[in-house]
Amino acid sequence: MRFVDEYRDAEAAKRFAEQTRRMATRRWRIMEVCGGQTHTLIRYGIDEMLRECIDPIHGPGCPVCVTPLEKMDRAMAIAAKPGVLFTTFGDMMRVPGSETDLLQLKANGADVRMVYSPTDALKLAEKFPEREVVFFAVGFETTAPANAMSVWLAQKKNIRNFSILVSHVLVPPAISAVLGDPDCQVQGFIAPGHVCTVMGYEEYEELADRYRVPFVVAGFEPLDLLEGISMLVELLESGKAEVRNQYARSVKREGNLVARQILKDVFEVSDMNWRGIGCIPGSGLRLRPEYSAYDAEKKFHVERIQASESELCIAGPVLQGKKKPRECPAFGTVCTPEHPLGAPMVSNEGACAAYYSFRRFEEEVPHAS
Ligand code: SF4
Repeated sequence: MRFVDEYRDAEAAKRFAEQTRRMATRRWRIMEVCGGQTHTLIRYGIDEMLRECIDPIHGPGCPVCVTPLEKMDRAMAIAAKPGVLFTTFGDMMRVPGSETDLLQLKANGADVRMVYSPTDALKLAEKFPEREVVFFAVGFETTAPANAMSVWLAQKKNIRNFSILVSHVLVPPAISAVLGDPDCQVQGFIAPGHVCTVMGYEEYEELADRYRVPFVVAGFEPLDLLEGISMLVELLESGKAEVRNQYARSVKREGNLVARQILKDVFEVSDMNWRGIGCIPGSGLRLRPEYSAYDAEKKFHVERIQASESELCIAGPVLQGKKKPRECPAFGTVCTPEHPLGAPMVSNEGACAAYYSFRRFEEEVPHAS
């Protein structure tokens, strides 16, 4: 398949792995920020292929996993209201809230529908003017421009029965929080290619300068990651705290200026609570005051709903790269994809789901250095 097979070629994979092995004089601790990259690493056994060169630490870049519990509970409080048509991407349906999830709520009679984009939700608002249509706007900088555009369009067309429940998070402040932690052991980063496609990588250059760590912006296919890791190991071995771009077929240094502008027009930066991690200053987005009529939390008065996590779930340390999923006592026992206790076991990008799906139950090899 064009644009897929050429990034999964086994011979090229062996060459990149060999190149990395030749360069590495030690085992480097590197963080792949994005959950999609975590799945590629585990699914294709890249971590095992390069076991003697890298110790991958899985980052907080799974949008479903970091959506705070109180947002899930607020989503369900809104979806349960009479007259509401609640729309969401499919991967949010089974994320556990304090007591239930959206799929169960739907089974109980709430009108919860899966959509492929916020524009689909906006079309539903136009089709059913007597209903209140709400879209669950979750994710990183990648999904935020389309969500911003839906609000901008709703205002332009004067569609008043549409609103969004905003739970957007930003990657650079999360990396800054990881690096600012006195226990941080990460020595280099694979930066998320899809986020950088929108935002560019100037912010990562600032982080590299401030914390003296290298970054490589990489894609999601096995060869993208193998090449990205090779580039990162080269930087680490030469002691350079720089940013390199492996994903040049998609990412420009300045990003997508049109997408960045719509983001800036509709959203403003705010403090944000990350599920399992807590509040990270300046790491979220909220609607600007001129768009507050489209803010579902305000419209349905659910801002005060708070929640507390299961004591068994160690999603916080897993999302911060401090623990691996198999270190969780609930992993694969009381927490499975069929009966998830925490979001990392549900999401397509969650580290716990990756370890479970690809049978990573065995013990970790002790660190060499
Ligand atoms: S295995 Fe389940 S309970 Fe443990 S950290 Fe992952 S999601 Fe939470």
